This record gives sequence, structure tokens and C-alpha cells, in this order.
Amino acid sequence: MYSTTGISANGWAKGAVTVRAASGYTIGKTSDLFEESIGFSTNETERVFYIKDTGTGKVYKGSIDYKLDTKAPVISGIESATEYQDSARFTVSDADSGLADVKDGETSLGNSGTYELTTDGVHTITAVDIAGNSTTQVVKVCADHKYPNIKYEWNEDNSKCKASAECTDCGKKVNETVDAKASITKQQSCTDAEITTYTATFTNNIFATQTTGKQTKGALGHTQNADDGDCTTAVTCKRCDYVFIPAKEHDFSGEWKSDQTGHWKTCKNDGCTKVDKKAHTANITEPTENEDQICTECGWIIANKLGHLHKRHLEYVKAKEVTCTEDGNKAYYICKEDKKCFADENATNELNESDIVIKASGHDYGDPVYTWSKDHTTCTATIICKKCKNVKAKEEVKTTSEVTKQQSEKQAEITTYTATFTNEAFATQTKEVQTKAVAKPKADGNKINVKANKLTLNSKFSIKTGKSIKVRWGKVKGADGYDVYLSYCGKDKMTLVRSTKSSSVTISKLDKKKINQKNNVKCYVVAYKIVKGKKQEIGKTNLFHAVGRKNKSETEPKNIRLKKTSYVLAIGKTAKIKASIVKKNKKLPVIAHTEKIRYATSNAKVATVSKEGKITAKKKGTCYVYVYAINGCAKKVKVTVK
Ligand SMILES: [Zn+2]
Ligand SMILES: [Zn+2]
Ligand SMILES: [Zn+2]
Ligand SMILES: [Zn+2]
Ligand SMILES: [Zn+2]
Ligand SMILES: [Zn+2]
Ligand SMILES: [Zn+2]
Repeated sequence: MYSTTGISANGWAKGAVTVRAASGYTIGKTSDLFEESIGFSTNETERVFYIKDTGTGKVYKGSIDYKLDTKAPVISGIESATEYQDSARFTVSDADSGLADVKDGETSLGNSGTYELTTDGVHTITAVDIAGNSTTQVVKVCADHKYPNIKYEWNEDNSKCKASAECTDCGKKVNETVDAKASITKQQSCTDAEITTYTATFTNNIFATQTTGKQTKGALGHTQNADDGDCTTAVTCKRCDYVFIPAKEHDFSGEWKSDQTGHWKTCKNDGCTKVDKKAHTANITEPTENEDQICTECGWIIANKLGHLHKRHLEYVKAKEVTCTEDGNKAYYICKEDKKCFADENATNELNESDIVIKASGHDYGDPVYTWSKDHTTCTATIICKKCKNVKAKEEVKTTSEVTKQQSEKQAEITTYTATFTNEAFATQTKEVQTKAVAKPKADGNKINVKANKLTLNSKFSIKTGKSIKVRWGKVKGADGYDVYLSYCGKDKMTLVRSTKSSSVTISKLDKKKINQKNNVKCYVVAYKIVKGKKQEIGKTNLFHAVGRKNKSETEPKNIRLKKTSYVLAIGKTAKIKASIVKKNKKLPVIAHTEKIRYATSNAKVATVSKEGKITAKKKGTCYVYVYAINGCAKKVKVTVK
């Protein structure tokens, strides 16, 4: 019966709604006025109508219901005809029916209510609500900025660079300031300044890397080396090859200069000190007494003429010895030209006459000298010059004599001789002379024979070592006693260990201690006679040695073996005794402090014996040669001289 227009499918209307009657019907808001259609404005809330069937005339009452939304969606955050930099954000809200969709041109952006436009260009934004109301805004977004003009600015010292630009589309301004890196790109030299290049690198890639160069030091300029004073070498720069003064050739065109050492020319070039020096060339090898020595090149007088030189005219005068009566002279040289005298052949040390002449001194007579003849029967007195032996006075006289002391057993005979001179210069002389010796005492029957006593003492000598030491010796006629000396071998001093009248002793202590049986001992015995209360030595044994009983490394002789025990020799003849030692212990060496065998003769007038045992026959007669071992073992050899 009717249809409506202006109501959306979901029941929303955005303005007036028209209700149209179907064919065969009319419609009206009241029951008395019918039309083909009626409209309800947005102000009408009573939406009642009447429909009349035109055929039957029957009227029907009806109404319609719908929601009304007359307000379009609201876009916030952007404004139409505005250009946005990089992006544009906006929100859309709608009262009543609610947001249906938002479109960017033909593209739906959805109905979330918040949006961002990021693409470059013009955007036509249309917001539509469910009721069909719509709002449109047209904006521009500049996302692809255009920076055709970028400005780069360096600060004063080039340490920083600032880049800045403005988008010609949207006017967006960007800038960046960075620290520049400095590096020396050209080194300073004589001719080049130092250049430092500064490089600024930006993080924003719209900015290009910038470089700028700056002179940071000036060129050094050349520095002149010291001139070596030789013009043939160039004067150059200390640092480079630059030449201040080029090399030249010396200019020796000037005059000679001279001194004693030679002649020379100095190079005339400025700053050149080169000197060309040569030795003089002499006209003569040496100056003469009359001619100078001159350089033939430069005229320098090398040596003046000598003038008169005594040296060239000298004659040698030999020394003459002075005597008591005649002058002498020292040796000297004399110049034949002017008679000047000199001590040396170079005529440097001139002498006066007083330097040369040695005056005669006259004789030097001493006191008179008296000379006695060997037999004192004459005496000669003389006065002689000590230097030249010139005899001033001499007198020889016969002497007189007189025995002034008589000979006795205590006094020699003295004769006094007297010489009397006639010359008054001489004094009377006397001289005492021993003419006879002291008288010999009358022969004594008990004369001591020390040598014979020695043989007697030695003949029975023996030492037996052990806990105590027993020493025996031969008895000497007329002896009042014996002193026994004993010590350990190796000691310097011999100790008197016992005085006895017997011919043997037994010693059990030595040096106030027990006998050390490991030590060897040495011993000798002295026979004495008491004369006026004092011991007088009348004989002495040899020094004998004996092995200590407990000495395990040495032994001593047991016996002496003789090849021959008697010799018969003519006077002047010799013979060698052949003796050998028989050891107590054959395996050990004999103690050896002294000769192993010693010899002694009983009468040296008949025959002597050497240290080596050689007998020499001297005089007719018989004697014995004793052969001793070091410990006293003895044998004797009979010697008959025919
Ligand atoms: Zn709306
Ligand atoms: Zn822009
Ligand atoms: Zn230079
Ligand atoms: Zn030069
Ligand atoms: Zn010269
Ligand atoms: Zn002279
Ligand atoms: Zn004299």
C-alpha cells in the first residue's frame, strides 16, 4: 500500500522521510486530505498517516518508526588544505549512528577512529557514518622532502662543521653539527706550507661528507749552511738542495804573502779562506857568513847572512896539567881570526883567561917521614912534596940499640932502637922491638891429649834405647868425671842429663818426662878434670844417634863390616877403607842425620884419614884408624907406614 524513501536498511534516517502510496491508493497525514505521497521532516516526531483505497474509498490508519541521525562524523587533528611534514595523524568520531568507514581516496582506512597518513602526496579523507552522513577533508603530506639547497658551515678553526637544509615542499628544517677530523695532508718544508685537511662526516645521509683544507704552518724558507770557507763547494740549504752560493774555482791571482814557514796566496773569492801555501825555494842551501838565504819565489829572507862565526875558525888547544911549579890549562877552542876562547866546539861558551889557566900551586911538603930498615940498624928521615914527590930534605943515620926488657916466662925480650939526625928539621926517633918471645914453661909430664882421649871415649861408646836409655863410654885416664849430654833428635839444644864418675849412666827421664820411645835420641859425653875448682874439658865423644825403641820406620847399625882390617903403606901412598853398615832391622832405613860412617886416626903424624875413609901415609910408624857408625858401633883398622 506504500513505500518509504530516506530510511537506511539498518533503520537510520539522516533527514526527511517520504512515504508514497502504492498504485490505487492515496495517502494523507489527516483523514480528510489525501495525496500521492507525504513527507515527515526531521522535526516531526508523530509519524501517523492515513491511506485510502481509491477504488473502495476505504481509509486505513498507519504509522512508521525509524532512528534519526543528522550529524556528520567529526574529523579532528587535521585541517583541510593543510600540508603536513612526514605524516599526518587524525581521529574521527561520530555521534548517534556511529562511524561506518573512513577512506583515503578510494582506499578504506577502517573505522578504528585513529589514523596516520605517511605517504607523500594529497590525501582526500572521507568519513561516513552508519546513517550515511559524511565529512571530507583534503590534506597534503610531505614525506619525500626535497632539499635542493644544503648549506655547510665551518666554524672558525675548522673543528666543527654544521650542515643545514630546508625542504622546498614542506619547509622542514634539518641541521647537524659534527666534529671534524684533522690530518696533515701536506708537510711543511722549505718551500711548502703545512696544509691540514679537515673532514666532516655526517650521520644524516642527506648530508655529504665535507672537507676543507687550511694552511696550518707557513713554509720554512731555506736555511743556509755555514760556509766551509772553500769556494769550490757550494753553500746549500741545511734541509734541501737549494744552493745559496754556487761552487766556483779558487782565484789565486793575488800577490804572495810570506813568513818564515813559507809563501802563500789566499783565494780572492768572497768567503773563501782557502790558502795555497808552499815552502820557500831557497837560493842557497845555507846562508853564508856574507850572503842571506832568500826565497827565489817570493823574496823572503829565510836566513840572514851569518856574519863572522867563531865556530868556523876554531882551533883546539889541548889541556895541560898543572904542576907544583908550572901553570897548566884546561882544554879550549880558540878562534884563529880574533883569538877569542871557547869551552865548546860550537863557540857558544866564551872563556876568559882565568877560566882556562890553572896557576902553579907550589910544593906541598908534609911532616917528616921516618923509615926504619928491616933490622932497625938504620933510619931514614925525608921531607917530600905530597904532590910531585920533590925531595926537600933526606938523611939516613945508623941507630943505637939497647935491651930494655929482659926475657922471662911472662915477658918477651924488648930492644929499643934510637935514631939521631943532624938536620934540625928531623926529630930523634925511638922504636921498641920484641927481639925474643916469652920463655916456654918447662915440660909437663901429664900433658892432656884431647885427641887421644876422644878415641878412648869413643872406643867403648854405646847407647841402648828403651824405657830408659843406657849410655856407655871408654874410661879416660886422669878424668875426674864425665858429663853426659842427651836430647831427642831434631832438638837444637843438648841437655846435660848427668854428671858421673862412672863410665856408664842409665837415664829414665828426659825434659822431666818419661822417655818417648818413638823418638830417636842423640848423645855425647865430655870427660873433665877439676882444675882450680873448675871443670876443664879433656876429651869429648863424637855426637852419636840412636833409634827410639818404638820407632817403627827407622833402624840403626848393629855392626860395621870391614873388607880389610890392616894396611901397610909406603909414605905418601893412600888407601881407601871399605866399610859397610850391618843394620839391626834389614827392612828399615838407617837414621840419617849425619854421615853414616865417620873416621878418626890415632896418630895424624903417621897417617891421616879423610871424611870418606881415605888413608894417607905420612911418616914411618903404626897407628889405628877408627871407623864409627852413627850410634857408636866401632871397628878399627891398623895402619903400618914403611
Ligand atoms: Zn554521524
Ligand atoms: Zn617536505
Ligand atoms: Zn731549503
Ligand atoms: Zn776559493
Ligand atoms: Zn817564498
Ligand atoms: Zn872569531
Ligand atoms: Zn911539588
